[in-house]
Amino acid sequence: MRIGTGYDIHRLVEDRRLVLGGVEIPYHKGLLGHSDADVLSHAIADAILGAAGLHDIGHFFPDTDPKLEGIDSQIILRKAIAEVSHLGYKLQNIDSTLIAQEPKIGPHINSMKRVLSNSLGVTEDSIGIKATTNEGVGDIGKGLAIAAQAACLLVN
Ligand code: MG
Repeated sequence: MRIGTGYDIHRLVEDRRLVLGGVEIPYHKGLLGHSDADVLSHAIADAILGAAGLHDIGHFFPDTDPKLEGIDSQIILRKAIAEVSHLGYKLQNIDSTLIAQEPKIGPHINSMKRVLSNSLGVTEDSIGIKATTNEGVGDIGKGLAIAAQAACLLVN
């Protein structure tokens, strides 16, 4: 068994879509990034890659590559799974936390699980997604950014 952890943070800005866990969430701001800036999917991808001792997603998907502009982060997740599968590992489960002052995440969690289970090739009950605010503290608490943490277990 191999454990992995991942963390990511993106700035919340005007005129961007808000995509979390592969689901577009109606909100007047979105996350800034070279890809679709899906902070939850990025944290999960890094947890998966890290569990296998591989490089992080910046290695596989450099933000300097113009071909990757606006890339759907579900492609990144599929690549992470392909890389660890190649080494003989299977994803057992994921647990994750989104840290966002706004908007309300709870109503979208089941949709995120559906999308992520499809990308990761595991059942929805193998994916934990929790959400918390930052209690108004710091930049996340002021609504300037959204962060995510993830842990995963790989088995072979
Ligand atoms: Mg990221």
